[in-house]
Amino acid sequence: MNNTYDAIVIGTGQSGPSLAARMAAAGKRVAIIERGRFGGTCVNTGCIPTKTLVASAYAAQLARRAGEFGVELASPVRVDMKRVKARKDEISGKSRDGVESWLRGTPNCTVFQGHARFESSHDVRVGEELLGAEQIFINVGGRAAVPPMPGVTRTPYLTNSSLLDFSSLPRHLVIVGGGYVGLEFGQIFRRFGSDVTIVEKASRLIAHEDEDVSKEVQAILEREGIKMRLNATCIELANYGEEVGVRVDCGEGAPEVRGSHLLLAMGRTPNTNDLGLENAGIAQDAHGYILVDDQLRTNVPSIWALGDCNGRGGFTHTSYNDFEIVAANLLDHEKRSVKDRIKAYNLYIDPPLGRCGMTEQEARMSGRRVLIGMRPMARVSRAVEKGESQGFMKVLVDEDSKEILGANILGTGGDEVIHCVLDLMYARAPYTVMQRAMHIHPTVSELIPTMLGELRPI
Ligand SMILES: Cc1cc2nc3c(=O)[nH]c(=O)nc-3n(C[C@H](O)[C@H](O)[C@H](O)COP(=O)(O)OP(=O)(O)OC[C@H]3O[C@@H](n4cnc5c(N)ncnc54)[C@H](O)[C@@H]3O)c2cc1C
Repeated sequence: MNNTYDAIVIGTGQSGPSLAARMAAAGKRVAIIERGRFGGTCVNTGCIPTKTLVASAYAAQLARRAGEFGVELASPVRVDMKRVKARKDEISGKSRDGVESWLRGTPNCTVFQGHARFESSHDVRVGEELLGAEQIFINVGGRAAVPPMPGVTRTPYLTNSSLLDFSSLPRHLVIVGGGYVGLEFGQIFRRFGSDVTIVEKASRLIAHEDEDVSKEVQAILEREGIKMRLNATCIELANYGEEVGVRVDCGEGAPEVRGSHLLLAMGRTPNTNDLGLENAGIAQDAHGYILVDDQLRTNVPSIWALGDCNGRGGFTHTSYNDFEIVAANLLDHEKRSVKDRIKAYNLYIDPPLGRCGMTEQEARMSGRRVLIGMRPMARVSRAVEKGESQGFMKVLVDEDSKEILGANILGTGGDEVIHCVLDLMYARAPYTVMQRAMHIHPTVSELIPTMLGELRPI
């Protein structure tokens, strides 16, 4: 068999498969290599399975609140974890199978299963096979980071991957990490019926967001009975057989939290340690992220890195956007760059937080003259009608250019509504365009023009 290709793609995350298919359609001979499950993190242990759980948790919570809407249930709410898991597995499995059959059915594309490792800047080994190519694209993603905390080697812990394999309910889930993954899992399992404690070493949750946003998110979660241990400056893990302990130094409260299960949600680490990067001379930073320029080229001219492993995004949409940038530059002769994209992401607690552009803190630091608009969700009629009026909206505008700098929409529908702000930012249109647009009643989106009509200096 001829093992020389025009392109090799390592990993089937959110950019690799699309890039392989585009290159194959352009007539190139492509090899794509996957060592684990097709579709990578998002499909198997990230977005898709967690969002199915968010949906099950929402259903449980709404059922518990049914009386508020005048609806009576015949019996108390009971969550069947086996059925929750079966639903998750089915949705995730369909997506995984879809990626695999798509790749296997793509003409000019050969799929290899196994661990890929560079032998030189043009050669990659997969088991017994040595593949060579002019161009190589790395889409190896990342995994849960497990920092070397005291006690970590003696204490059983879960990560996002192993917790998703659970089909029973933890009695008390202790989560170390108050970031996106920790908060989503925390609310999910609380709504399923577990006791949940979140331990965070910073003084507030999701510490890179504005303080008012973190405080409101904390209040939303605490109202559901989630316990917080913030300022946990010296975390130490302990194994008590039937229980796990997390020693915290919070300055207040008991010095240790004990629970039945422990989830470590302390960030991600790139899958680059066993890739043989040194054999190809590919430069990485101190955390193992592959260094790339704004077109996602590594320091080796024939090699690109896309998705979480380049440290430039960390989301499914940023990984997919990486594919679009590389494909545009290489195949469409269109100059596209990572610099052109606007930061945007959601936190999928309920109600969700939609975010784009600058935070208020960043806008203040930018030296611009900034206008701010705010509205509590309690003054959004659609949210009130739905009985989901927690949270608030905030928008930041450059007073001179009139362009929107950023927004937070923490409230029902915030994960979708954020896009009307984001698109205006991409259009680089003045905020007055949306202020004068007629939005539909009753929606959350209709209050964005209203909020833009009430701007004041920050
Ligand atoms: C719990 C959780 C929830 C998340 N929720 C969201 C969300 O709601 N929205 C969002 O945008 N993002 C979310 N993310 C992030 C998102 O999953 C990732 O950013 C996304 O999957 C992009 O990953 P990627 O394309 O870089 O690679 P990945 O999806 O990580 O895939 C990399 C692939 O490469 C393979 N691989 C690795 N090394 C090798 C090798 N040496 N040889 C062969 N194959 C290899 C792996 O097996 C894997 O299949 C979430 C993440 C987690 C953990």
